[in-house]
Amino acid sequence: MSDCINYKLFINGTWRSGGTGADLPVINPATEMEFGRVAVASASDLDDCLRSAQASLHFWANTPAEERGELLIRAARILKGKMDVAAAALSREQGKTLTEAKGEYARAVEMIEWNGAQAAKLSAPWPIDPERLLIPEAIGVVAAFTPWNYPAVLNARKLAASIVAGCPVILKAAEETPSAGVHMIEALQEAGIPPGVVSLVFGNPPMISEYLLGSSLVRALSFTGSTPVGRQLAKFAANNLQRCVLELGGHSPVVVFGDADLTKAISAISEYKFECAGQSCNAPSRILVEKSIYKEFLARLVQAAEKIRVGAPDDPNVDMGPMANSRRVEAMERLTKDAVDRGARVETGGKRIDRPGYYWSPTILSNVPPGSQVLREEPFGPILTVAPFSAIEEAIEEANATEYGLASYFFTESPEIQKRMIRSLSAGAISLNHLKGVSADAPNAGIKQSGYGYEGGVEGVRAFQILKLVNGAKAVPLA
Ligand code: NAD
Repeated sequence: MSDCINYKLFINGTWRSGGTGADLPVINPATEMEFGRVAVASASDLDDCLRSAQASLHFWANTPAEERGELLIRAARILKGKMDVAAAALSREQGKTLTEAKGEYARAVEMIEWNGAQAAKLSAPWPIDPERLLIPEAIGVVAAFTPWNYPAVLNARKLAASIVAGCPVILKAAEETPSAGVHMIEALQEAGIPPGVVSLVFGNPPMISEYLLGSSLVRALSFTGSTPVGRQLAKFAANNLQRCVLELGGHSPVVVFGDADLTKAISAISEYKFECAGQSCNAPSRILVEKSIYKEFLARLVQAAEKIRVGAPDDPNVDMGPMANSRRVEAMERLTKDAVDRGARVETGGKRIDRPGYYWSPTILSNVPPGSQVLREEPFGPILTVAPFSAIEEAIEEANATEYGLASYFFTESPEIQKRMIRSLSAGAISLNHLKGVSADAPNAGIKQSGYGYEGGVEGVRAFQILKLVNGAKAVPLA
């Protein structure tokens, strides 16, 4: 292929091909055509990552926090300058629209800047009382694993928090969306990141994670992806007692009460649900609607879904692109068929779109019988189920009925109901009268099978620090 892009590994400050000599295809999900290759790391590449991380460990942890922060802020500016090119590459490999890709890069830049600005504050010791002090110190080498749905934001979040905490970080980014990691590392390189502080690898995910977590040099891991893989990594981490930040799946309910502002609720739901073709862990997936407004709500939601313009992600008139890979389309087909076989009604969509690419139509299912896979398995795609409820107790029970606990949403103007819902929903994040909630300055974490450990906010940096307790510190001023 003449215009094939070759994505390389970044180890000890230089770009190189993988030691295996092998590479993997990078596919455009809108055309199913290969347009690039990504290097596959060998065990010896990973040894080099570990060695260079070890060599930079002491130096980086002892670099003044202000300098680490300034470096991040410079990198954020550089990335901002390349945003159009980076967003076009992301859209091409992931399938999200160009507008969504630009929005994602804007958030990534904001995350890097926010972390950079916190560096001095988050490295400063603080007293418990006049005799005792807590000193935040870098935990050590971090292994970070990011998926293909929001690679720019997730790489930014994991890299920035590790760097600000003073930790060398080895990033294994998703092979299906390599450009996001490459652009981020190039920005850090141009900003002056010392060799060894960041490494970027691609290859065989289970081999890389097992190898890196098999080293006691790695002191923390941060993973975003599915619950089964998260569990597997937590088992590896147990052998070396590595600290885990696990951001896993979700199956978020939205409870819409009879007094809700329906226009606001419907536009918020359809906007977030169909962003990135529904492949977001926080996306709404189960809508529970009070019986008195159910019919009207369903009709208006179907209208909103039918207005979503699906097509090529680089077309400015398109709202939703293809799914990221063929696995997701197959999952949509399986979940829809299972629900329909059990008696569910397809209100709109429910099928592949007849064109090349991994396209699935915005889908709304009603009358979905209990036991249907789509009610319990994370759909991770543009499928919504809608069901009526009569009493708040019923809505709460159904909202909390999955093994996940990432995000929950509800719409009501009643302060009494708001208070009750906030207390009753089991999720790491709750939003009332709007959707979304992940920002640079707020901690984000799931509960139950959605994972543990915080990303984002002050807590996201603390995840990569230890707090050293110093007793009798009065006599030792530590400016
Ligand atoms: P998957 O579980 O195989 O992979 C998910 C991600 O984890 C990918 O980026 C993959 O490269 C990585 N991965 C897989 N095995 C790994 C390992 N042993 N070590 C390190 N990384 C590993 O599934 P998939 O088909 O790519 O995605 C499907 C499911 O993953 C979805 O249904 C969804 O539940 C979940 N997912 C969640 C998120 C999220 O934001 N929480 C993102 C992407 C995928």
